[in-house]
Amino acid sequence: MIETLKLLKGNHLVSIMKDIISIHDFDRDQIEGVLKSAQIMERFIQGTDILEGKILATLFFEPSTRTHLSFESAMKRLGGKVIGFSESSSTSVAKGETLQDTVRITEQYSDIIVIRHPRDGAARLAAEVTSIPVINAGDGTNQHPTQTLLDLYTIQKELGNIDGLTIGMMGDLKYGRTVHSLSCALSWFDVSLQVLSPPGLELPSYITEDLMEKSIDIVEVEDMEDLSVDVLYVTRIQKERFPDLEEYEKVRGSYRITIKTLDHLGEAIILHPLPRVDEIDPEVDTTPNALYFKQAWNGVPVRMALLASALGWDQ
Ligand code: ASP
Repeated sequence: MIETLKLLKGNHLVSIMKDIISIHDFDRDQIEGVLKSAQIMERFIQGTDILEGKILATLFFEPSTRTHLSFESAMKRLGGKVIGFSESSSTSVAKGETLQDTVRITEQYSDIIVIRHPRDGAARLAAEVTSIPVINAGDGTNQHPTQTLLDLYTIQKELGNIDGLTIGMMGDLKYGRTVHSLSCALSWFDVSLQVLSPPGLELPSYITEDLMEKSIDIVEVEDMEDLSVDVLYVTRIQKERFPDLEEYEKVRGSYRITIKTLDHLGEAIILHPLPRVDEIDPEVDTTPNALYFKQAWNGVPVRMALLASALGWDQ
């Protein structure tokens, strides 16, 4: 165990910040620090005891598969334990308990909280009422910082570098929190962006303005055939965020990657935070372009790095 800790410290696995709420709170050095730590964590993927005795509480007020399970897997691989819920209807929330009270109570039983909530800003609110670290696993349409870190980790691992790349984002750029976080993180790098979305689902202007302020070249593309990218980041249409389901029906199924459309993409790698609905034909899965399952696996070392770092804060 001592050797592990020394190795990690020697490789700069130092605390980034107490809470991981928004990718806006990270600068380029911190992002690169996480990517480096995740690489180190791959060596401990079979298990280590650096978080022995620590308990992670997972509070999932919204559905999740990958984020929930990979945080759980990460904590267990680090030697820690996990408690939590994935259905708030089985907790006192159903009796009217406030988020603040749920978090204050969870603090009594755990050392770190991972929270997913449908409300924008919920993770920040949670962090304000507890002294233990809080990690945002997605808050409404706002942010999904740990997804972004694993997205960047995947790009770096597969293509060697993030600088110099042209990155396409296709899908629901309005409600998709993963693309909101990712575009913000990419603004630290020397990249160009190509964006493509069904009408009405464009990137919010506060994000495009921010990107332009940081001199990121951003081009809106009308057709999939016009994309010329190194990475294509695809997202599903976020049905559950539409105030009016009729609006969803208008854009449903409006884009789909198939073996045929792959011709235009050349060697571009395709990423997707998943779940997919109908935007990538399963026949694409076995092509060398399809990296989304590897991307999901990368969530484990990245989240190991974040948990270890967050729990090292006051040691
Ligand atoms: N799993 C991702 C999220 O929680 C992407 C999605 O749901 O479309 O934001």
